[in-house]
Amino acid sequence: MSDTNDTVFGKIIRGELPSEKVYEDDDVLAFRDLHPAAPTHILVIPKKHIVDLFDAGEEDEALLGKLMLAARKVAIQEGLEEDGFRLVINNGAGVGQTVFHIHVHVLGGRSFSWPPG
Ligand code: 5GP
Repeated sequence: MSDTNDTVFGKIIRGELPSEKVYEDDDVLAFRDLHPAAPTHILVIPKKHIVDLFDAGEEDEALLGKLMLAARKVAIQEGLEEDGFRLVINNGAGVGQTVFHIHVHVLGGRSFSWPPG
């Protein structure tokens, strides 16, 4: 874990940047992606700064579970129960991570192919 969080998500958590929030509790925040890749594209993040899964430890076990349950809540809110949704975590610059504050993409509202690109 890092003490300073100069990422855009750190700024969103601190209210220094606006975001369209769809869910918030003490530990987790969810907001719409600025450049949606699907009709529903929401980012679920912990308020604690964790860079990526390599930066997470045993002490983050419950928090990582909370991200999953928040993603579930958001998906239900967005009406994705029937058609389903996809969760994506880009873990590392080599696979497309651009914001170094761990986040779960919740994607839905269109069809998806497999394997992902
Ligand atoms: P990554 O590529 O790291 O997996 O995902 C980062 C995501 O953050 C991208 O989908 C990008 O569109 C989104 N993003 C980047 N900057 C902002 C911002 O300032 N606000 C919001 N809401 N999303 C952002």
